Amino acid sequence: EGKEIFNFSPGPACLPKEVLKQIQDEFLNYKGKGFSIIEMFNRSKEFLELAAEVEKDLRSLINLPDNYAAMWASSGAYLQFSSVPLNIGGGPESTATYVETGHWSMEAAKEARKFLNVSPAWQPSEDRYLYTLPEPEEFNIHKDSKYVYYCDNETVHGVEYHTPIVTEGVPVVCDMTSSFLTKPLNWDRFDVIVSAVQKNLGPAGITSLIVNKKLLGNKRADTPIMCDWETQYNCGGFYNTANVFALYVCGLNLKYLKKFGLEYFDDLAKQRSTLIYDVIDSSNGFYRNQVDLKHRSRLNCQFRLKSKEEDDKFLKTAEEAGFLWLNGHIKYGGCRANMYNAMPIEGAEKLRNFMKQYQDEQE
Ligand code: PMP
Repeated sequence: EGKEIFNFSPGPACLPKEVLKQIQDEFLNYKGKGFSIIEMFNRSKEFLELAAEVEKDLRSLINLPDNYAAMWASSGAYLQFSSVPLNIGGGPESTATYVETGHWSMEAAKEARKFLNVSPAWQPSEDRYLYTLPEPEEFNIHKDSKYVYYCDNETVHGVEYHTPIVTEGVPVVCDMTSSFLTKPLNWDRFDVIVSAVQKNLGPAGITSLIVNKKLLGNKRADTPIMCDWETQYNCGGFYNTANVFALYVCGLNLKYLKKFGLEYFDDLAKQRSTLIYDVIDSSNGFYRNQVDLKHRSRLNCQFRLKSKEEDDKFLKTAEEAGFLWLNGHIKYGGCRANMYNAMPIEGAEKLRNFMKQYQDEQE
């Protein structure tokens, strides 16, 4: 048992206790069949049944129309940073528009530049960059764009688009790695959604890939097989040896998420983040968050104290009190409360109380 901890990791993140318990119960004997899930042959009837059920549950949870393929790609979101331009970007002479709003969209654009011309949707100025987001009306969408790429929730900086962007006639590709399954989705707004699963859905190792089928069939001839969406789709979603365990855990969690629905998790995310932003905003500058109020993330609440030394002292004291992994991104520093689907409201309440008490003790 040990002491109670709350896991604020940016991912791999906490999973619901009841899902973990179910994994434990079934681990030695999957559905009474006498083998462990990690021993399951990836071309077996049992695996095909599991994969079909996981897809069915995902589609029903997100209300996915039939004209979208729902696949699971090996590896993380990073591999899809390359797959996107290879599959729908045309050749090296073509252009795609990237909305660079922070670390993850910048990483995606950097990768895309290896394969095509990246046209910027906006020119960030120093005082806006990383603390706010451009509105779609401000976007400069290159007229020959094969697609527009953006990140729904910039995990590192804690900035989120609370309404999907609108573009006329150009396919929209969205990285939802940190916000997938935390709010209902309007399918008129998306053509491709890429989400590594290790935040709101499962363990690391696979990525949910949702693609409007009209975009399949345009890949570059030199697309590596593991980046190739069409091949993946045509073989039923699993070209190489599937990460059976990760898919199984996603499946269990999807059943858990379906009991509540996406509106519930949206509401929960708002409640949790409001608790933390309130304590920051009422701290008279002891804790600071500079993100534009209308773009503050519901999932990643980023904050800083007076100095790096103060941040480190806070993080150390928090960890000793059972609040794990509140540190900001390795490149940007600071502190960050990452609260995904499995974080209970009590976790946010206890962190809020801790932050208040910590401030009182320091002043
Ligand atoms: N995009 C976003 C928004 C992320 O938060 C992350 C991981 N934190 C990634 C992409 C990269 O995902 P992976 O490590 O699975 O490649």
